[in-house]
Amino acid sequence: MSDSPLDRRTLLKSAIAGLVALPCAGLVREAEAADAPHLDEKDPLAVAMGYVHDAKKVDASKVPQYKPGSFCHNCVQLVGKEGDEWRPCNLFPGKLVDKDGWCKVWVLKPGAKVG
Ligand code: SF4
Repeated sequence: MSDSPLDRRTLLKSAIAGLVALPCAGLVREAEAADAPHLDEKDPLAVAMGYVHDAKKVDASKVPQYKPGSFCHNCVQLVGKEGDEWRPCNLFPGKLVDKDGWCKVWVLKPGAKVG
């Protein structure tokens, strides 16, 4: 690699352009996510994971993994905008889950409380 000032300047410009592009890519993904369809409870993966739109409907006697007070909104896998009813979940790419939903993969988000 050359040490000429021009090459360093070009490299610096590229690095800055890359840093600016990262948050923009995140905004695009966020906008795309908002338009995604809602996950169907009958979707084969949703069925396999025991996903429901309303966690309060989970029968704890039949689903031992269920812990009362666990919801998608306090799960580490939920992403997207805080407060939105329907948000992306890492487990179901391209679909949105209900913030009050639940599935067997639920794990408490660090810093969140059950309930
Ligand atoms: S992984 Fe978490 S956020 Fe995703 S559907 Fe299951 S409980 Fe909800």
